[in-house]
Amino acid sequence: MIIAKHIHVTGIVQGVGFRPFVYGLASRFGLCGWVINTSAGVDIHIEGMAANAHSFIEKLSSELPPLASLNSITVNDALVENFSTFNIQPSNLIEGAFQPISPDVALCADCERELFDPTDRRYLYPFINCTNCGPRFTIIKDLPYDRPTTTMADFPMCDDCRAEYENPLDRRFHAQPVACPNCGPLVQLRNPASGHISNIEMRLTAILKTRQLLGEGKIIAVKGLGGFHLACDATNENAVNELRRRKGRAGKPFAVMFANLTTLKRYCEVNEEEAALLTGHEKPIVLLKIKAKTNIAHFVAPDMDTLGAMLPYTPLHHLLLDQADEKLQAQYAPPVLVMTSGNFSEEPIAIDNEDALERLAPLADAFLLHDRDIHVRCDDSVARVDGEELVFLRRARGYAPYPVSLPFDSRPTLAVGGELKNTFCLTRDRYAFLSQHIGDMENAEVYESFEKNVEQLSHLFRVEPEIVAHDMHPGYFTTTFAERLNVRRVPVQHHHAHIAACMADNKLDNRKVIGLSFDGTGYGTDGAIWGGEVLLASYADFERVAHLQYLPLPGGDSATRHPWRIAVGHAEALGLELNDLPFMQALDAKAVEIVRQQVRKDLNAPRTSSMGRLFDAVASLGGVRSDVSYEAQAAIELEVLSKQFVNGAAPYPYQIKDGIVLLGDLLQGVINDVRSNQPAGLIGARFHQTLCAMAVDICRSTRNDTGINEIALSGGVWQNQTLLTLTRERLSNENFVVYSHNQTPANDGGLALGQAVIANYSS
Ligand code: ZN
Ligand code: ZN
Ligand code: FE
Repeated sequence: MIIAKHIHVTGIVQGVGFRPFVYGLASRFGLCGWVINTSAGVDIHIEGMAANAHSFIEKLSSELPPLASLNSITVNDALVENFSTFNIQPSNLIEGAFQPISPDVALCADCERELFDPTDRRYLYPFINCTNCGPRFTIIKDLPYDRPTTTMADFPMCDDCRAEYENPLDRRFHAQPVACPNCGPLVQLRNPASGHISNIEMRLTAILKTRQLLGEGKIIAVKGLGGFHLACDATNENAVNELRRRKGRAGKPFAVMFANLTTLKRYCEVNEEEAALLTGHEKPIVLLKIKAKTNIAHFVAPDMDTLGAMLPYTPLHHLLLDQADEKLQAQYAPPVLVMTSGNFSEEPIAIDNEDALERLAPLADAFLLHDRDIHVRCDDSVARVDGEELVFLRRARGYAPYPVSLPFDSRPTLAVGGELKNTFCLTRDRYAFLSQHIGDMENAEVYESFEKNVEQLSHLFRVEPEIVAHDMHPGYFTTTFAERLNVRRVPVQHHHAHIAACMADNKLDNRKVIGLSFDGTGYGTDGAIWGGEVLLASYADFERVAHLQYLPLPGGDSATRHPWRIAVGHAEALGLELNDLPFMQALDAKAVEIVRQQVRKDLNAPRTSSMGRLFDAVASLGGVRSDVSYEAQAAIELEVLSKQFVNGAAPYPYQIKDGIVLLGDLLQGVINDVRSNQPAGLIGARFHQTLCAMAVDICRSTRNDTGINEIALSGGVWQNQTLLTLTRERLSNENFVVYSHNQTPANDGGLALGQAVIANYSS
């Protein structure tokens, strides 16, 4: 019997080879009908033998193409219309509907093979891509995802490309960015001072010349997928130092890109999970343990035991780093490059050629440009592997704007996020679209980029917010932005948002958990700076059950750049003697006296319960570092030193009174250890153990009082792997159920997700 079915599919089904897959499946089962992309998903009409139709429906979800994923399949009976073929119909836009958008995808194995095949017409072509790989999110201007709505609209296909694009059996069928040397984008190498070095010579000259310059220790601005990188030879000490000087970046580690996994393994320890993450189609920067003796320049990642490493993810990267192709080998290229974001200091990364030529001129010796526009700015993602889990430090390219699915139906909401490491979040239905990493909002260009990205994503996802959620901090730029919108506003406490983000990340429904929000900073309901908080929290509300003792932060936020001030301030408030400690000898006596006065007279020394600042104080007392050049540097270095001492280290004494963790005994313990010349690593290890013991204590007593057994860990401090591992293990041993972040960062990069869910539960 001939039957007909109408099938509606939602999920990541556009730009991922889903329609050719449907076409192939229909041919396989001898079915007629059609498939169409709409802005609400994919609609399919099939007619044929009942058994075949059922097999088709079954295979539809079981044999998906690699990049596709389904959220729902709805099947309905339809009228038999006696089609004689199966067709792919032109896309159809339904106003107001939307589809998730695929993130950008790293070069696939098939395309990599063609890229280095001298007989292929795309041999060494830097923009080779197919249905399974290539740019997506960063080139999409609108939906449905079709070439005219991308930045590839400027490149009319040649006959060969069009034939591939239109052939349902070709692996480039409807690959929107399909291109070749005859019709696609081209690279160009430019010298900022003297104009062109090589003209639009895409095949070899520009690439070979770039390889040569990199080999000579030059710094090259390279246009990538979501923005520019600044590249230089990572083994060249002078080049790396020069890059630091020009970029105005003193100590913050640079990410590096290795030619391939084999090369990478010579420099870093890589387990199976890490190898899978490095070679997967997202290709984030992965934090890896660096081997002891390598020729990586010291100043790539000074004082770190890890290296942020990645593998080439665009064809252009492959061409710059390749060590095997005969033509490319005509020019030596360093097998490991620093690939840091193309910006000065904390500005947003450059994405336009003109903008880059202007802003990066003082930074780069030459520019490797191309003429495919980047519509959406998107930084590299940064992650590490924790056991078998992925931990995000920065979520952007390869992951954004893939949605987090919500355990409830949301109203259209915009959550604007926090001030540092900003991301924002849009929700509709059961989706939360967490934006790519935007940056630090105090930078005017970053703020502009934020506004533009909010507009871009609201449009793409067809979200017209009914609610705007923002941080309670009255001085945040994001708060001011929210206040200007003419919709219902929901201010959200910073650490409540962190805990809610962790809950939503773990798909919890609205229920109470014990939230350990260990963080750097956040505006409290009492106006103090919070950050070492234990909350009894649900999406709907929270109660502060415990927190670190309030101590002064001399000079306010600027103290975060000078951990010694925090150490001196905390000690002054607690009446602890410091003058004989080694780190004090290097300090300016006058500056120390000013800090003490600030504390004594309560002048510009706001109160804080911040865990991040406690790390700073301990790191400074221990002699790790008195001043930092990037956020959390002292805490990160303290952790690095602690690792080898942490097992079995004894906690310092501490007291908890009426939910307040008193820190005098702890800091006195640290000071005593410094006096008896204990190594900073041991002091750090004891400190980590103290925090863990304290956390377990509080969780235990809160469980006794409330019967609640679930713990959520959120806030920037949980990026500390040593503390996370220790605490999670100890809590699990006590039969707590422990949730940490997997899909989103634990730091402020995940904050907006929490704000969005809380806003949906506010009345
Ligand atoms: Zn491909
Ligand atoms: Zn072509
Ligand atoms: Fe935070």
